Order: sequence, then structure tokens, then C-alpha cells
Amino acid sequence: MNLFSTIWFRILIVVTLFVAVLFLFTGSHFRGELKKILQDSERVRHDVIMDTILPVVQINVAFDLNDENRAYFADLAEKNGDIATIMLIDSQGKVLYKYSRDILDENSIFFVERTLRDPQNKKNIGLLSLGFLNFALRQAELEQSSFEARFLSIVAIMFIVLVFALIYIFAPLQRLVKWVESYDPKSLHSEQLQLSKGDTEVSKIGWAITHMLERISKHTSELDLLNHDLDEKVKERTHELYKSNMKLQTEINSRVRTEKALMYANKKLIELSRTDGLTKIANRHYFQEHLHRVWDICKRKSIPISIVICDLDHFKNINDTYGHLVGDQVIVEVAKMLSDALKRSTDMVARYGGEEFVMVLFDTTSNDALNLVKEVQHKLHSITQFQEPADKVVGVTLSYGVCTHVPQKSDTVDECLSCADEALYIAKNSGRNRFHVKHLYDTDSAFTPTI
Ligand code: GH3
Ligand code: MG
Ligand code: MG
Repeated sequence: MNLFSTIWFRILIVVTLFVAVLFLFTGSHFRGELKKILQDSERVRHDVIMDTILPVVQINVAFDLNDENRAYFADLAEKNGDIATIMLIDSQGKVLYKYSRDILDENSIFFVERTLRDPQNKKNIGLLSLGFLNFALRQAELEQSSFEARFLSIVAIMFIVLVFALIYIFAPLQRLVKWVESYDPKSLHSEQLQLSKGDTEVSKIGWAITHMLERISKHTSELDLLNHDLDEKVKERTHELYKSNMKLQTEINSRVRTEKALMYANKKLIELSRTDGLTKIANRHYFQEHLHRVWDICKRKSIPISIVICDLDHFKNINDTYGHLVGDQVIVEVAKMLSDALKRSTDMVARYGGEEFVMVLFDTTSNDALNLVKEVQHKLHSITQFQEPADKVVGVTLSYGVCTHVPQKSDTVDECLSCADEALYIAKNSGRNRFHVKHLYDTDSAFTPTI
């Protein structure tokens, strides 16, 4: 810490300057006043001297006693050390007497002049001029400057003394600042503060800081210990957490696998619940579900739906002739053939009963439905020709009942199904291996022969 930057030093400078300025100001003021008073008192004294010698000089001049005057003036000059010049001039301007003392500063001479008059007739007989040195004033000025010099010396000495006092006062503060700056809270062997336990404020601050640092150091070491414990605990917990996390992850993975397996099983279950066991096409239950969905769409959009129920002709004979296993295979082949015949994803074929199938044709007119039926009939012919063991079977044919309808609000799915069933019944009764188309509100029937 720099002493000259301290507030105390600044206060000291300001006070010193203030005192010096105040002193010089008042000094100059009183010096002026004193000078005036001294000048006035001197003037009175000069007048008194002049008035005392004037009658003598007048008489001497009036009676032309020049030698008398000369002796008088010499005596006067000798007795009055402040008389610097004497000048005596007669009425014609002739210098009768002149005296001048060796004076360095002629400006400090005050002149007093008087006109000389004849004591009898009062006529102007000359002029007496006395020059006085203002001794008292000069003495006072000398005294003043000596006093100022002493005063300023005292001020300077006091200033120096105060500077040293400040240095002395601030020394412990500087030691304290140095010590605080170099104090290392981590070091166990920090340097001790070198202060006497006196009553000065600096010492008190120093001791207060020391105690505070001791407390901080104590708390810091306690905190370090706690921190260390905490670190250990955090490590332990992190490890435990890691372990449980791993366990959890394994469990999650296993659950995800189980969930996937469950979803797969569920999907399979749904598929199984919708699939016919023998033919692997949709079963009657799923057919009903699908039909209702498609029916509602057709009803809402006023578009036609065609339902085709097909039944194998005289299938009992096939079973009886070739056995049930062959019968099953024929059913599977026919189901596959029907499934392959469908072209749109919205169409569906399902096993309706033992050897009965049903097709739901979305947005399909009766003409389009008949075209599909004809195609199926043609393919069925191929099966009987080439497929094993169906090729052993002679005359595997289907009869078809077709119902096409644009569903109205009051119409039901069952009515449409009954209609297709009735059409099938008609096709069967009409000789089999043929189709019959029936509309929901038809009264007459139209028969179509086999291809
Ligand atoms: P129709 O032309 O009038 O339909 O004569 P059909 O013999 O085909 O009809 P019917 O109802 O008299 O006989 C159906 C036969 O179909 C009886 C039944 O044993 C047989 N059948 C039903 N389901 C199966 C099956 O899954 N496998 C086998 N092999 N035969 C079945
Ligand atoms: Mg049948
Ligand atoms: Mg049959």
C-alpha cells in the first residue's frame, strides 16, 4: 500500500495547504493594516519633529544665521537616526543647507515640507524639507517576514513529523495487507501475522481477520472431509445405480422380447381366429365382420355390393367314393382357386360352411360378379383336369347364388345373404353347375345355364 495514496495523507496535504493559505491571506491583510497604522503614527511623529524645529529654523533664516542652522541640523541628524535628508531653501530658491544620509532604498523615505515665514511679518522666507526613514515600518516588515519564515518552517517540520507519524501508523496496516495478500488458506504453515496486540484499530482489524481466517480454515477442512465422504458415497451410489441400470436394461430387453413375442402370438391368434383351419382362407366369423364393414361403406356411398355363395355339387358322392381325405383336398384346392381368382384387395373369399364358400365383392355390379363366376367355373374345370388328387375326381363342379345390391338405409346384411342363398338354392334346383343372379327385391328369377 502506498502511503501517498492514503486518505490520511491527502487530508494532511489539504489541511497544510489550507493553513498556509489562510495564514498568508490573514498575514497580508494585517500587514496592510499595520503598515497604515504605523505610517499614520510616524506621520504624527514627523509632524511633531517638524513643528518643533520649524520656529528655530524660521528665526535663524529670518536673521540669516546660517551657521546656527547648520549646527542645528547636524545635531538633529545625529540625534534622529530616521532623518534621511534635510533640505533648506530660501525664498529665491537658493539651497541654504542640504543633508543626505546613505540610504539604499530611497522609496522608503517620507518627505515632510513646510514653508518658512518671517516671525514678524509672516512673509515667505523659504522652504524646509525633511526626509524620514520609516524605521518602525521597516522593523515591522522585517519582524513579519521573520515570523512568516518561522511559521512556514514550523509548518514544514509539522508536515514532516506528520508524514513520519502516518508512516508509523500505517506500518501495521501495510504489514496486515501484505500478510492478507500472501495468506494461503491451503497451506498449513502460513506465516503468522506480526502485530502487537495493542489497542490500535489496525491491530484490532488484524486480529479480527486472523480469527476469521482461522474459522474459515477450520470450516474448509471440515468441508473437505465432508466432500471426500460425499465423493465416496456418490461413487458408491453411481456404481449401485449402474448395476441396477444394467439389471433394468436386461429386464427391459427381456420385456421387449416378451412383448414382441406376445404381439407376434397375438397377431397369430388374430389370424387363427380369422382363418379357417383346413383351407387357410377366412372363416365364417371373419367373413361376417368383413361383410358388415363393407356393407356400411357401400350403404354410405351408395355403391353396389355382390355376394356370391358357391357350393360343391354332390360332394357327398366324392366323399363316399374317394374318402374324406380326398374330399378335404378337393375343398382346399377349390378354396385356393377361389382365393386366387379375386383381383382386388377389397374382395374376400371365406369358407361359409362344410363345402360352401362365400365371396364378398365390394363396388361390383352383377355383370362383373358373373364375369368372375365364369372365370372360376373355367378354372375349376382345369383343377378337375390336372390337379392331384382332384384329377381322380370326375365332375367337381360348383353352383353359385349371386345377389347384387346397392344397400339402402333399411336393408340388412342378412337379407342380402338370404337373397344369395335363395339364388344358390335356385341354381341347385335348376340342375347344378350353374349360377343364378337375384336382386334383393326381385320377384322373378333368371337362370343361367352351365358354361
Ligand atoms: P348338393 O349338390 O345338393 O350340395 O349335394 P351334396 O352332397 O354336396 O350336399 P350334402 O349337404 O348332401 O352333403 C354335403 C357333404 O359334404 C356332407 C359332408 O360329409 C361333406 N362335407 C362337409 N364338410 C366336409 C369337409 O370338411 N370335408 C369333407 N371331406 N367332407 C365334408
Ligand atoms: Mg352344402
Ligand atoms: Mg354340396
